[in-house]
Amino acid sequence: MGTKDPSVKELLHALRVAGGQGSARLDERDTGETFGWEKEQSYRDFADEMAELVDLQKRLFADGSSSVLVVLQAMDAAGKDSTIRSIFSGLNPAGVDVNPFGVPTEEETAHDYLWRIHHHAPADGKIGVFNRSHYEDVLVVRVKGFAPERVWKKRYSHIVNFEQMLADEGTTIIKIFLNVSRDEQKERFEERLQRRDKNWKFRAGDLDDRARWPEFMEAYTDALEKTSTDDAPWYVVPADRKWVRNVCIARILRYHLEEINPRYPDPEPGLDEIVID
Ligand code: ATP
Repeated sequence: MGTKDPSVKELLHALRVAGGQGSARLDERDTGETFGWEKEQSYRDFADEMAELVDLQKRLFADGSSSVLVVLQAMDAAGKDSTIRSIFSGLNPAGVDVNPFGVPTEEETAHDYLWRIHHHAPADGKIGVFNRSHYEDVLVVRVKGFAPERVWKKRYSHIVNFEQMLADEGTTIIKIFLNVSRDEQKERFEERLQRRDKNWKFRAGDLDDRARWPEFMEAYTDALEKTSTDDAPWYVVPADRKWVRNVCIARILRYHLEEINPRYPDPEPGLDEIVID
């Protein structure tokens, strides 16, 4: 650990949404926060965290008795894809399932909104990563009026109960909101417009969501405050600086995986007497 960086507990406390009205404080949080890290030190700390995570994931997989679900939510260009590359490409791909949730298909729309989600909940031993999630059903759906208020209002309690059920059945849930500023989003959109290798990431519809920034922040505030629980906490991670984002997320994951404390299964009896000729 670096000399100036915060302890794991302090950091998690600063990032975590306690739950309840007034606890998200999105307008007060600094999207460019560094928590005292310098860039070079953050890279070293990130490498250390990743080494621990590799070992913890191996044990989670071998233990095979519980799972981890990481939910990633953010405005466009906040870095969901880049987070997934930075953190999860270093782990054993056999133990990680990444699922993106875009506009629901016809079949998905014909079911309740949790139907497509539950199907992708991680199996024992696995880390599941949701790139967007059931939260879209209280975010974009609310902001763009895809469902009436009487419908989306009830969803917060469905979601809390659904996640509690997953937690009770052995899934550790970690929910991360990548908190990017509107100015930083502008710069990233401009880069997407200018760079040939990034053009494909830009959709005109992204500007529509950008124009509704205040409504999205209001919807995020409600979602974070109404659904952050002891067993399924939300973390608001400052996302204007990728190096801060990465080390924060690695540290959050390591904390939760250490809490699980996965163990290698006991060897079969008599293993020490086997001789291979
Ligand atoms: P991203 O922006 O997440 O990197 P993308 O731009 O490539 O992804 P898709 O993954 O195809 O696009 O879809 C993301 C879009 O789907 C977002 O605009 C999101 O708001 C929308 N979406 C996700 N879930 C729902 C939902 N339940 N109802 C309506 N729209 C949804």
